Amino acid sequence: HGVRKVTVLGATGSIGDSTMDLLRASPERYQVEALTANSNVEGLAKLAIEFNARFAAVADPAKLGELRAALDGTGIACGAGEQAVIEAAARPSDWVMAAVAGAAGLKPALAAVDRGATVALANKECLVCAGEFFMERAAAANACILPADSEHNALFQALASGNRDELTKVIITASGGPFRTWAAADIEQATLAQALKHPNWSMGQKITIDSASMMNKGLEVIEASWLFALTPDEIEVVVHPQSIIHGMVEFSDRSVVAQLGAPDMRIPIAHCLGWPERIIGRAAPLDLTKIGQLTFEAPDFVRFPGLRLAYDALRAGNGATTVYNAANEIAVAAFVKEQIRFGAIARLVEETLNSWIRSGNLAPLSSADEAIAVDHKARNLAASLLPQIAA
Ligand code: NDP
Ligand code: MG
Repeated sequence: HGVRKVTVLGATGSIGDSTMDLLRASPERYQVEALTANSNVEGLAKLAIEFNARFAAVADPAKLGELRAALDGTGIACGAGEQAVIEAAARPSDWVMAAVAGAAGLKPALAAVDRGATVALANKECLVCAGEFFMERAAAANACILPADSEHNALFQALASGNRDELTKVIITASGGPFRTWAAADIEQATLAQALKHPNWSMGQKITIDSASMMNKGLEVIEASWLFALTPDEIEVVVHPQSIIHGMVEFSDRSVVAQLGAPDMRIPIAHCLGWPERIIGRAAPLDLTKIGQLTFEAPDFVRFPGLRLAYDALRAGNGATTVYNAANEIAVAAFVKEQIRFGAIARLVEETLNSWIRSGNLAPLSSADEAIAVDHKARNLAASLLPQIAA
């Protein structure tokens, strides 16, 4: 086996950190081609130097001087701005981790897809924004998409024990987040600190808030539909507070195949890094006797309307999931700035979707560029609805 060239988009984030931890464990196996960040120049430069990357890019164009200075004398090339991040993804490498947060990760991920790379996809928002075109372009370029999201990675592994036409449904689990047992009135008033206290997983800020609202599970239902060509009826969500079973596939003979693992993203990332082989993991082994019991509950679509809205958007199609994601990104950003209450996140998404549909904007999309245009328009619409939602 030769040395594999790898690129990490979003290297300074939570998924980036887990990915670099795995790469660090086997330096003889991997050559880091490119690393990217949004604005964290210090973290990016540190990683680029440690891994002797060929190229480092920061999305914030104002940070070019700072990045140049940090890499001065290292021989590591660098760039700044959206185009530089796309260039990082487009540079030849065998394996790309797509771990930018939000729909901002779509264009860079597509640049990796279009050159036929193996792409470990953590960035679910890019599939929710433009899943159809993402998968089409992957097929056209013969790119291999490996799901890095734990639930989808579990489904990918479980699917290997049957044929696609023998599948009857898939089940993705949800921890239920910090508000799983809370009354609706308390969820409405939840603070940022409370939303950021995830019971099982340590993750970036946006996905942690999405987990608290269960928007994350909604995004994942949509993500699963594109990754595995599933209808909404074929995707079930089960609340499983221990987060040990990540996903299950039910086949026609009623066998249900599950993947288990500790709630540590290094497990699905290691699967993506090793595939089609298995590498040595970095997570602690699973000790079921210590966990004692695995429990399951039906999700509550009333206290967590974000999950219901995901199914609605998926059924509506025609750009509705793009709007769902865009409105949620605006809502989460507003919640972080304490402009809206926690309960208003789902209300803003619902109001944006309703307004979008009422105005007759629902229409078939034909390209990723069209999805990006819808994303921009829906962000503006959601931002314009913010004041009335905040009131
Ligand atoms: P973080 O917020 O921790 O990290 C995001 C990364 O993307 C950082 O490197 C950040 O740079 C960079 N970034 C942010 N905005 C932009 C932008 N506009 N342009 C370019 N780069 C940008 O997020 P996570 O690692 O938690 O999540 C990344 C993705 O993976 C998300 O889509 C999330 O849903 C998904 N995911 C995450 C899981 C987790 O356990 N964390 C689990 C499953 C999926 P900077 O550091 O400079 O801000
Ligand atoms: Mg997940």
